[in-house]
Amino acid sequence: MSKPLTLYDTYTRSLRPFEPVDPDGEVGIYTCGPTVYDYQHIGNYRTFMFEDVLKRVLEWNGYRVRHVMNITDVGHLTSDADTGEDKMEAGSRRTGKSAWDIAKLYTDAFLEDIKLLNIEPPTLLSRATDHIPEQIAFIADIEKNGFTYRTSDGVYFDTERQPDYGYLARLDKEGLEAGKRVDVGEKKHPTDFALWKFSPPGEKRQMEWDSPWGRGFPGWHIECSAMAEKYLGDFFDIHCGGEDHIAVHHTNEIAQTEARVGTRLANFWMHGYFLLSSDAKMAKSAGGFLRVQTLIDRDYDPLAFRYLCLTSHYRSQLNFTWDALDAAAKGLTHMRQGFHALPEEATAKPDAALVERFTDDVNDDLNVPRALAVAWEALRGDMNPAVKRATLTAFDRVFGLGLLSWRPPVEHIPDDVASLAERRAAARKGKAWAEADRLRAEIHAAGWEMEDRPDGYALKKR
Ligand code: AMP
Ligand code: ZN
Repeated sequence: MSKPLTLYDTYTRSLRPFEPVDPDGEVGIYTCGPTVYDYQHIGNYRTFMFEDVLKRVLEWNGYRVRHVMNITDVGHLTSDADTGEDKMEAGSRRTGKSAWDIAKLYTDAFLEDIKLLNIEPPTLLSRATDHIPEQIAFIADIEKNGFTYRTSDGVYFDTERQPDYGYLARLDKEGLEAGKRVDVGEKKHPTDFALWKFSPPGEKRQMEWDSPWGRGFPGWHIECSAMAEKYLGDFFDIHCGGEDHIAVHHTNEIAQTEARVGTRLANFWMHGYFLLSSDAKMAKSAGGFLRVQTLIDRDYDPLAFRYLCLTSHYRSQLNFTWDALDAAAKGLTHMRQGFHALPEEATAKPDAALVERFTDDVNDDLNVPRALAVAWEALRGDMNPAVKRATLTAFDRVFGLGLLSWRPPVEHIPDDVASLAERRAAARKGKAWAEADRLRAEIHAAGWEMEDRPDGYALKKR
């Protein structure tokens, strides 16, 4: 018997056994998606891959998963303190395209990238701009319940009205209040945040809507509370994002949902830790960030990056270096070649003992690095080769390395070698054995090996 699935919940700061909210239904997961004002960097994809592995582990345990991901295409300001420009409007100025066009461009680029990384698409991808009425209704309820106030630039959430505000992040509200290091402007408290921002007077934004409070646009956090509630309900299983979301974005999602319906939105809050670049945070705003395309341009298979991410636990930061990616690429190549050489037998079943150990590892808060070690043990061990293949095929449902679909790259055979091989095949057919041996030696001298097969021959580089 394998161990039951246990996950780390940031809300309670503890490992908890996973029990679905609805034992007969689907497991509901909401993951904060990309802000589509630019390409996503490989740091973002580390988080999306952690969420993909979580989904695959739930499926490994027999659950059906309903996964909702948002596309942030409005309202995410350049500063988390509700100041600065909307990232979409800034992206529009940077590229000379409309905010709507860049939203489409970078959403499409995101969908291409997740395909290259074998990240399964969410069950539902929902755009913030397609859910403005839902967000307005949500804010209206929060207002009705007495948690809001207005300033000259928007409608704000009054965090003082909520005694347990900031529990997720274990925020020290008093400390923040006493220090008042932050310029709060018209806000009453540093932690208060915008629910609705007014369009600046005399300025026409590309993305703006009418609301009961005036023309403007939603704050960034409200989209997630509104769409999660619409598609997964008031209290669902797991909400995920990167570690940077703990202090502000997820804290505010919880505040909003609590103010409206009294729940903390999700039963588990899970966070993927950052990918660092030269030990510093990898961020779009820092410039020079690495994209999936950057890896391809340098002749890496994007799945080598996936393999690299699988080698570290999601709750520890990972420092990206090209040496680490080289090592991951080598590991992936060896695993692919080893797998490819194994015979396929329809009746072969995965090895039960290894499956049990693998399950124990992935169920131990997604310990994929250890599960990967079990896969290597399977590959290197002395089991029946067809059983090895069946075992690794099963494991790859969680890893997502695409072992089954991989094919060795086709090597380019130089014309002279190809013609020598043709002549040798003809010599063999004519039973001219001495000539065939001489040609084989010539092929060998050219750096190639000719292998005779029942249906012809194959050429391989020595
Ligand atoms: P964004 O497009 O900025 O809204 O971010 C998309 C996702 O990537 C969010 O879940 C972030 O928390 C996450 N994220 C941002 N930077 C990093 C990083 N350097 N490493 C891992 N995840 C990140
Ligand atoms: Zn979110």
